[in-house]
Amino acid sequence: MNSGKVYLVGAGPGDPKLITLRGIECLQIADVVIYDLLVNQVLLDLYAPLAEKIYGGKMKGQQEKRQAEINQQMIDCTRAGQTVVRLKGGDPFVFGRGGDEALVLAEAGIDFEIVPGITSAIAVPAYAGIPLTMRDYASSFAVVTGHSAALDSTSPIGWEKIAVGIDTIVILMGIGHLDEITRRLIENGRSPQTPTTLVRYGTTPEQETIEGTLADITQKAEEANFQSPAVIIVGGVNHLRKHLKWFEQRPLFGRKILVTRARSQSASFVSKLLSKGAMVLASPMIEIVPIDQNLAFDQSIDGLSDYGWVVFTSTNSVKLFYCKLREKGKDSRSFGHVKICAVGKKTTEALRQVGIFPDFVPSESSGATIAKEIKNIAHQRILVPRSRIGRPELLDGLRERQAIVDDIPIYDTVEVEREERNEMLEKLKKGDIDMVTFTSSSTAENFFAILDEPRSAMKNVRIAVIGQSTARAVMTHGLKCDIIADQPLIENLTDNIVEFYRLNN
Ligand code: SAH
Repeated sequence: MNSGKVYLVGAGPGDPKLITLRGIECLQIADVVIYDLLVNQVLLDLYAPLAEKIYGGKMKGQQEKRQAEINQQMIDCTRAGQTVVRLKGGDPFVFGRGGDEALVLAEAGIDFEIVPGITSAIAVPAYAGIPLTMRDYASSFAVVTGHSAALDSTSPIGWEKIAVGIDTIVILMGIGHLDEITRRLIENGRSPQTPTTLVRYGTTPEQETIEGTLADITQKAEEANFQSPAVIIVGGVNHLRKHLKWFEQRPLFGRKILVTRARSQSASFVSKLLSKGAMVLASPMIEIVPIDQNLAFDQSIDGLSDYGWVVFTSTNSVKLFYCKLREKGKDSRSFGHVKICAVGKKTTEALRQVGIFPDFVPSESSGATIAKEIKNIAHQRILVPRSRIGRPELLDGLRERQAIVDDIPIYDTVEVEREERNEMLEKLKKGDIDMVTFTSSSTAENFFAILDEPRSAMKNVRIAVIGQSTARAVMTHGLKCDIIADQPLIENLTDNIVEFYRLNN
């Protein structure tokens, strides 16, 4: 049997986009991913959805035992022919035991590759607006561990040299010993007035910063109950932060925004909000599930050319329709002379992607408008493949105009698990959510169905919706929408949210 290979991959410091292209390639071919605590889960979901995932984090007091297990797992998996990604926060060779693991592999004769990552030591200061070197301020930097062993009397770390010999000092794993570390640096000759910055969860929307001097930073951190994981940056370069802090200046930084879209559709909305700096809580309220053993759907596809029109009301319909076509070994030619109506820009785009330019796109997405505007439908058979809980207005309107309508449910929208929901409810209660967004009336309905008293639960929470019918769904619960997108598109919704916070700071 071919033996596998281990890729020791750096995942970057937190922002999932800071992984390298090579890192992504490795995840995509992985059979097994052994990942650490500080690795962003998004990377696993996006690039290794099917791989077996093993948590390689270590519990306090059990580090050595767990490390031995991880080493063994890597060896066993590769000997069984599997491709293993050992995914580590930041860079694998910067304080991550990557060196030790590579040695174990080398000794066992196992093929391995090291894929560097962007270390938090570099990226976190960058996201805090602190250059590590800078003319007139600093021409050297050191990355030092602040772990307890580093402060032991037997430690080989030359604090006396670092304190005065290096301009910028970046200390990892040091928050628990901040007092001792700052004292050491001062005792060894560094000025107590040296600017010092602590940055927690750097490069993520949760990034938190405390600024001070070597003399007062410990007290400030204690007062703020500042916890790890964080880096400590010591040196004159910290002065530059006031001019260069860019990350926290993004328009939605620090805003906690809940996205209630179904998981399969939320990715682009989430990424738009993230790019504006928001802290996005993706609480999927509904999932799209295709209906199994769907005889009516099968029959409608087999007799597709007998229809006058097919009306696609969502991208889900387009996707699932094409899945079914492919399943049956068919393609777009099965439409023959059947006319195609696409409701909304996204649906039109989804059809374009499969090479179909719709014959008709209504000016608005409401059922009544579609039924009014579509031409030449009297006595025609119309196929509407859509959600089982689709609204009746479209069908009623088409039938009023003497069309023969086949309403074929092809997917269900189902509520997601209770545990996930409870977590979200807890956050709502604690004031950990600033805004809730709704991109369809069904997600709004599902959301409110789980709140005992929507009005009191949402008292301090802003509401943003994608369009009028979603706004109506919100209003039926006695709530008002702070934002209704000026066009029913997530781009507009995102821009309108940014504008709202600009005006209501
Ligand atoms: N190999 C990693 C470091 C692992 S040691 C790297 O190259 O980044 C873990 C320490 O890294 C933490 O205690 C903290 O000091 C630092 N760290 C990692 N990610 C961080 C982040 N997003 N923000 C602040 N510090 C971080």
